[in-house]
Amino acid sequence: MNFWNPYLETLPREAYDQIELSYFRRMFSFSKEHSGLYRDKLKGIEEKDIRSLDDIKKIPFTEKEEMRKYQEVEPFPYGGLLGAPIEKVTSFRQTSGTTGKPIYVPETYESWQWRVESWCHILYMAGFRPRHRVFLPFGYNVYVAFWEAHFASEKVGCELVPGGALDTKGRIHKIQEIRANGMMNTPTYGLHIAEEAKSMGIDPASLGIERMLCAGEPMPPATRKRLEELYQCHVFDHIGGTEPCAWAGMCEAKDGMHIIEPFFLVEILDRETLQKEVDEGEIGVAVVTPLGRRSFPLIRFNTKDLVIKGKNGCSCGRTSKMIKEVVGRTDDLRKVRGVLFSPKTVEEVLRKEFQEVEEFEIIVERRGLMDVITLRAEANPGLTVSSIEQTKARLRESLKVATNLSFNVIMEPPGSLPRYTLKAKRFKDMREGGKNE
Ligand SMILES: [Zn+2]
Repeated sequence: MNFWNPYLETLPREAYDQIELSYFRRMFSFSKEHSGLYRDKLKGIEEKDIRSLDDIKKIPFTEKEEMRKYQEVEPFPYGGLLGAPIEKVTSFRQTSGTTGKPIYVPETYESWQWRVESWCHILYMAGFRPRHRVFLPFGYNVYVAFWEAHFASEKVGCELVPGGALDTKGRIHKIQEIRANGMMNTPTYGLHIAEEAKSMGIDPASLGIERMLCAGEPMPPATRKRLEELYQCHVFDHIGGTEPCAWAGMCEAKDGMHIIEPFFLVEILDRETLQKEVDEGEIGVAVVTPLGRRSFPLIRFNTKDLVIKGKNGCSCGRTSKMIKEVVGRTDDLRKVRGVLFSPKTVEEVLRKEFQEVEEFEIIVERRGLMDVITLRAEANPGLTVSSIEQTKARLRESLKVATNLSFNVIMEPPGSLPRYTLKAKRFKDMREGGKNE
C-alpha cells in the first residue's frame, strides 16, 4: 500500500478545490466567531462573500507581528489567538523566538490529533512503515515539530526512539545499540552526526539507517545527495512551521514535495505584490491556511517561505499540487552589491562540487561604500597545504558563476567553525539594517 489515505491522496483536482473552498469557508466563520484576532481582522467580510478560491485573495494575510500583539490579551498566554475555551487546551508549544517574542501555540486534544494525522501523510509518503525503528536525535522541549514527528511515527506504526538528553556521540552509540533504521533530523545535524561518527572510526553507512526525513532548513539537492551517500540511505525533505504545521513533503519519487491537500490551502504568490499565484517553475511566497485546526485558527498565514511552484501530479499517483523546491526565507534573500543573493546557492555549490569543505559561513560587511562578501570555508582534515590554494581559487570561480558575486575566500582549519544541532546560522549580514540571526 503506497498511500496513507488512498481516497484523499488521489482526488481529482476539482474535488480538492471544492473541498478546500468549503473547508476554508467553514474555518473563516469559525475563526471570526471564536478568535479575537479574526473577530477584528475579518470584520466587514462575510462567509457568503467567499464564493470561489479567487475570492479568498481578497482576505488579508495573517502576519506574525499581529499575532504577537493579539496574544498579549487574556486569556494568558494565548490571548486572541485562541479558538477554543482555555480549559479545553491540552498542550502548550511555542515558536523558537529567534526573530522576536515567541508565539504560544494552544492545541486541544482534537486539534492536536489533526496535526498528527496530517504529519502521518509526510511520514508515510517518505516510506516510513511499521518495520522502521526511528531515532529522533533531539530533546523535544516546547518545540512542536519533534512532538508531531513522535506521535505521527507511532500512529503510522513505526517504533519511535526518543534521543534527547544525549550528546552526539551518545546518540551514535544508541543508534548502533538498538539498531535504528530510520532517523529524522535537520540536514545540518545529519551531516554533523556523520562527521562525528567518522571521527569515532565509524562509517555512517554502517549505522544501518535506511530512511531519513529532514526539515528545519532549506535543503539543496546536493545536500540531500550527500546525506544519501554518507548514510547509503533514502533522504526525504518536507516543509512546515510551528504556526501552520508541516504542509508539504517529498514522496518516494523524490521530485519535489506534495502539498498535503485537503488539510491545507496553500497559495504560492508572487513576491513583489503578494497577489497573483505564480506559474509552475516560478518562485513565490507560500501563504498557508490549515483547514481543520480549530484551537489555533490561522487564515492565510504568510509563512515568508520562498518556494518554487511545482507540477501537478506525480509518478507516485498522488494528485495533489506540488512545490518543486524550497528556496529559503524571504528574510534570507538579500541584496549584495545590487545583486539578489540567497545563501542556499552557496550551500548547493559547496555540497555538490567541494567534498573537501566540511563547514562554511558567509559574512556580508560594508567596507566604505562597498559590500564585501566573505566565505569562510573549513577544510576537511584530509586537505593538504598545497591543495588549499587550489580549492580557494576553484571556490572563487564557482561562486562567481553561481551568484554573480566576487567572494573573498578564507580557508579555516578543521574543526574551527561552529557546528549546529538544529537550524544552522551560516549567514551573517553585518551591514547596518542587516538581520544577523
Ligand atoms: Zn509523488
